[in-house]
Amino acid sequence: MGRDTSDFVSASIGGDPHHAILESPPQLSPSATVADALALIRSRLDCSLDSRTPEESTVLTASIIPLDSGCVLVTENHRLLGIITERDLVRLSLQEGHLETILLSQVMTAPVLGLQRSEFTNIFVALNLMKRQKIRHLPILEPDGFPSGLATISSLRRQLGHGFFLRFRLVHEIMTLQVVTVSPHDSLAVAVQRLCNRLIGSVVVVDPASPSDSPVALGILAEGDVLQLRTLGLDFSLVTVGDVMSTPHLLLHPEDTLGRAHELMSRLHVKHLMVTNSDGSLAGIVSEGDLVSMLDPIDLYGITEILQQQVQTLREARDHLLSHRRLDLEMAFQKSEFRLVYQPQLQLSDSSIRSSEALLRRHSPKHGTIPPAEFIPLAEQTDFICDLGKWALEQACRQTAEWNQQSKRDLSTAVNVSSIQLQRSDFVSQTLDALERTGLEGRLLKLELTESALVENITIAADIFLELQSHGIQIAIDDFGTGYASLAYLQHFSFDILKLDASFISGFDRKPKNQAIVKNVIELAQTLHFQVVAEGVESTAELELLRQLGCHVVQGYLISRPLEVVDWSGFWQHPHAADQGNGRAVSSTASGGIHMASP
Ligand code: C2E
Ligand code: CA
Ligand code: CA
Repeated sequence: MGRDTSDFVSASIGGDPHHAILESPPQLSPSATVADALALIRSRLDCSLDSRTPEESTVLTASIIPLDSGCVLVTENHRLLGIITERDLVRLSLQEGHLETILLSQVMTAPVLGLQRSEFTNIFVALNLMKRQKIRHLPILEPDGFPSGLATISSLRRQLGHGFFLRFRLVHEIMTLQVVTVSPHDSLAVAVQRLCNRLIGSVVVVDPASPSDSPVALGILAEGDVLQLRTLGLDFSLVTVGDVMSTPHLLLHPEDTLGRAHELMSRLHVKHLMVTNSDGSLAGIVSEGDLVSMLDPIDLYGITEILQQQVQTLREARDHLLSHRRLDLEMAFQKSEFRLVYQPQLQLSDSSIRSSEALLRRHSPKHGTIPPAEFIPLAEQTDFICDLGKWALEQACRQTAEWNQQSKRDLSTAVNVSSIQLQRSDFVSQTLDALERTGLEGRLLKLELTESALVENITIAADIFLELQSHGIQIAIDDFGTGYASLAYLQHFSFDILKLDASFISGFDRKPKNQAIVKNVIELAQTLHFQVVAEGVESTAELELLRQLGCHVVQGYLISRPLEVVDWSGFWQHPHAADQGNGRAVSSTASGGIHMASP
């Protein structure tokens, strides 16, 4: 799942960066020659020609398509030593006849800048690096340094084309106006010399008879074309530009969108497109580099839009993650990994146990026991809490009804309800159904809701409570004191029980401030006729003080830890043995509860 998620997150603006990597780029050893490099290009060219569609073949007049990678990596013992690019080879191709004697180690560029695959998290990481270093090929390295992939301006452009709205920008915004031209009658050698001298990727062939201030464009010759002509073994001085130039049928105009430029480059497999006016005169030239370099994310979108996109990506990643987590919870549920344990609650007036709180537990064979603090928030985020809560409610009702039937007692049960469950329109009917199916009387069911759950559902909660209470069900405010509602505010809701949070109780006999709070809350609750339950009671000192202050019920490790169902059966028969608190005496009462000896 970890890998899934990181892939998902990295597929941010610009699309999945991994799709921009050309895998297994062409490689030669440093002792290979320039002729070998040309031959390698030739063989890869044959492969790519074979894979062209018939439509592409007819569009390309000179049967020329550039090499996909545009370079050869020079490697030795799995290590990247240098690189030799199309541009280097064009320059070298002018050296007639000696290509078999020139070793790559003599002419390659070294050292080469590479990028670790793990660092390639976004298209713009590679793009910015290439822009800053003024390079067009970026080897992608494995942790051991082996260049297993390659990102090029072309591969980035192809990937960016999907992720960006190129259609909003126009060709005339980015096209180069200073175009180097040649005549169709010039020899190929002249054209190549011009490419090398000016360090450019293409020359435009213009009609020498047309006016020099608005020359008519006839075709284009790019460095990739030259290279492939070189592999055919042509004598450059004997071939004219007119014989070998590309004469594209599909033209680009200044008012076209960059989306069209991108689409034409992809369709024709070219890196340079000439731009012509409607009368056929030359307007400029657009190279792949121009197209990509204007794709600055900040330029295109502005910071706000980028952030929005990132937020959207993260949101998708979160949803993706949550759906996995939900699946995990659902499977755990199907495999019966969830169960309920029941913590006894001691009534102080007669030291009897007449109620318990049902608490969820999950046991995973792989991770052991997982506490509710871990799975409840997840279940809430994924809405799975509705299924889980429904199950817990019915399970607790069934168990309590069964105990009461076996022991002829009137034990009640408290079930925790999440705020998400409360928001479901069928919550009341679900609860009543559970009572009906299990035969538990409504007066023996308590629903515990936190004050924040109340505040979040202020409008619906009041009505729901009244309806549930009309069936005898009692409503408890859980974790009181940890939320933001005051008692004065809460009295507007109709509820029956107030559960004082453990954080107030822990050691409160030694904390005057907490003591004052507890005292006040109990007094106010008594005035308003709520029953007060103190949670997390761990010491006799706490228990005694609570009794003095008029608290009605206590719950905590002092009385007992939450018990497994099997331990409760023993509890009915031998309450002494089952008391796992601090070994205090507990005994059954005639009135239907369980008595605990006073401490
Ligand atoms: P809670 O409703 O406040 O439950 C009381 C928690 O305090 C339980 O933790 C209980 O084991 C623990 N506790 C009881 N006595 C003592 C004590 O003396 N000292 C201390 N330190 N802790 C004590 P637990 O079982 O880990 O449950 C944690 C929370 O998970 C619960 O807090 C409740 O919010 C939630 N939860 C548990 N079961 C359910 C459920 O079925 N549905 C929902 N929505 N939430 C549940
Ligand atoms: Ca509770
Ligand atoms: Ca609580």
